[in-house]
Formats: sequence, C-alpha cells, structure tokens
Amino acid sequence: MADFKTLDDLPEDLSGKRALVRVDLNLPMAEGRATDLTRARAVAPTILELAGRGAKVLLLAHFGRPKGERHSTLSMSYVQGAIEEVLDKEVMFIPEVAGPVAAQAVDILGPGDIGLMENTRFWPGEEANDPEFAKAIAANGDFYVNDAFSAAHRAHATTEGLAHLLPAYAGRAMQKELEALDAALGTPNPPVAAVVGGAKVSTKLAVLENLVTKVQHLIIGGGMANTFLAANGVDVGKSLCEHDLTDTARAILDAADKADCTVHLPYDVVVAKEFAANPPSLRTCNVHEVAADEMILDVGPQAVEALGDVLKTCRTVVWNGPLGAFETPPFDEATVALARTAAALTQDGSLTSVAGGGDTVAALAHAGVADDVTYISTAGGAFLEWMEGKELPGVAALSA
Ligand code: ADP
Ligand code: MG
Repeated sequence: MADFKTLDDLPEDLSGKRALVRVDLNLPMAEGRATDLTRARAVAPTILELAGRGAKVLLLAHFGRPKGERHSTLSMSYVQGAIEEVLDKEVMFIPEVAGPVAAQAVDILGPGDIGLMENTRFWPGEEANDPEFAKAIAANGDFYVNDAFSAAHRAHATTEGLAHLLPAYAGRAMQKELEALDAALGTPNPPVAAVVGGAKVSTKLAVLENLVTKVQHLIIGGGMANTFLAANGVDVGKSLCEHDLTDTARAILDAADKADCTVHLPYDVVVAKEFAANPPSLRTCNVHEVAADEMILDVGPQAVEALGDVLKTCRTVVWNGPLGAFETPPFDEATVALARTAAALTQDGSLTSVAGGGDTVAALAHAGVADDVTYISTAGGAFLEWMEGKELPGVAALSA
C-alpha cells in the first residue's frame, strides 16, 4: 500500500497548531441550501478530531466551477450553515485563502476553533497548481491534511501542491478510502471478482483493460455487455451497443484470456421492444434469441444466479456500474439480486466488497445494501481513475 502518514503520526496535543485541511464540501444545492450532507458528514470525524486535539482547523474546499474568478453565487459561505449543522459547532467563514485577511482571521481563531476558507477555485492558481499560490496558503499552516479523496485525481494547489510545502497527512476519510481500495485491488485476498456495468464500454475502456490484468473473474453487465456480446457474434437487436468498439471488446477478451481472467457475459437477458417501466413486450430470453426490434435492458435471472455462485468462490469483489437500466423497473432486478448476494457474503465474512461510481452508489442504496458492503466510495472520477490503475496525484503527494 502507498505509504502515507495519518493523524496518528501527529503529536496528540496540537494546541494552537494551524491545520490546513483539504475537504470535499462540494455539496449539491437547491435555492442556496444544501440538499445532501453526505460529503460534509464524511469529513466531520477528521475536523472534530483535530479540533478536539486543540488544532486551529482551517478548511479548504472548492465549490462548483468558478474558473479562477470570484462568483458571489459560488461562495463557500453558502455551505457554512451545512457544515455547522453537521459538526454541531460554530464555524468562522474566512473570505480569502491567503494574504493578510486570512492571516488575521487565523490569528483570531483559538485552539479547537474551525475556520472555513473561501472557494479555492476563485483563484486561477488552484487549478494551475501554481507554487506561489500554494506557498501563500501554506504560510497560514503548520501542517496539511488531505481528507478529499474525491479530488485526489486532480493535481491542484490544495490537493497536491500543499503536500510538498508542509508536513502532509491523510485525514480519516482519506485513510479509510485508501485502506478499502487497497483491500480491493492493491493487495486483495484472491480470488478477486470485478463487476463492471453501466451504459457504455467507451467510458470504461481503461478500467476494463486494467482489471483483466488484476482480477480472476471479470463480470460484465449493463449496456456495455452488449458490445461484448456483439463482438462474439451475437445479434443484440436494437440494444444500446457501440458497434464501432467490437474490435476493442475482442482485444479485451483476448487480453483477459492471456491473463487467466475469466470473463462472464450474460447468457440470458431481459428484453423489451420499448424502454418503459414494466412494458407489455417484456420477456426473458437467451442472448441468441433477441429479436431485431428488441433491446437488452438487464441481465437474466439464470445468469444472475450463476454470477452469485462466482462471488461465492471469491474473497474480494470490486464493483462499478449497474447490471441493467436499474432506474426503470423491472430492469433493476439483476443489480439488486447480485448486490444482495455480495452483501450477504460480506456479512458472512467470506467476501470483501468495495463499490463505487455515482449510479452504482444509487443502485446499491436502492437494493438496500449500502450499509452491508465493506466500503462504498462516493468519489466518482477519482474512484474510476483508481480502477484504471492510475496513480492519483493527491495520493502520491501524501506518500512522497
Ligand atoms: P456509474 O455512475 O456507477 O459509474 P454508469 O454511469 O457507467 O455507472 O452507468 C449507469 C447507467 O447505465 C445507468 O443510467 C443505467 O440505466 C445504464 N444502463 C445499464 N444497463 C443498461 C442497458 N442494458 N441498456 C441501457 N442502459 C443501461
Ligand atoms: Mg454514472
């Protein structure tokens, strides 16, 4: 595992020490109010621990896409109330990230106090990873904590640059995420299965190419399975299918073969003539029996049962992408069934299960198993880049 320091490597007593803490507070908003506090809750343990140990906690985060300019509608002050609610503590809003106003505010804060700095992306130096900008921010800190895994695939001043200027530590959320990801693909218990689904092969090519070299079982579902089926000569009717990528799909199947990775494609499927909830044309059939005017919208029940049996032989599963068009019933059934099998095996202690991706998180929540898998990453882009086997700059900088 990448070798990084955590809050355990800091002295217990941090009285008056200035902690610059990068967090993800990019909360979804409607009419100026946060509609979901998940991200704020995720970073609360780090903030409360540092404050509890006496540090002056200075929160750095981005909000929306202001593109290097001040936008009053994207001020961090909009999330101040949400973070106060989650922490059940007062938080001081600081309308700068560096310079005399920031320094003065940091001075006013006492040990255990929390300050929320302005949107880091108001300054072009953030996304440019400008060393001078990072230096100006670092002037107000004694050490740096990164608790924003979801931003770790970006080499920005507050996600990467600061780690080179101050002693750098992973926060508790970052630590948990890195430990879970390591258990899933870094140094996992074999056999390892990967479930990859979702709409398109094109968005997950690099993921598939990386996984075939790392896992023993690659389970392909969702719309992207259609492209693989087509590559195998199956007529997928009017299913979502990237016909221009069948050669690429073929190459991935060959690479899997060479790496002793077994690829599991559905052999029965749920089809319909129109994409609607419970359509009259709904039926289940063998993949070779899809009619020209039908589309595949979910993996079939027999295939799902066989996939469950595959998971029973595995010690680790990493999952990204739903097996079917799960937002529309009954095309959620395969995803829900396999998710419940993975959750039950996890609860039995025989499987480590790690999942991530926007729609995957929603699908697992829909299946009612969000709390029964080992770890769910809400990190989106960073999670996918990690699935691609890429080194994330924000993580690498913590280990330097
Ligand atoms: P994630 O956000 O977890 O990475 P994706 O965005 O790649 O997942 O894919 C999710 C989308 O794929 C969902 O909107 C789902 O409806 C769609 N999808 C899954 N299977 C099919 C299918 N057979 N046909 C069309 N769309 C599908
Ligand atoms: Mg998605």
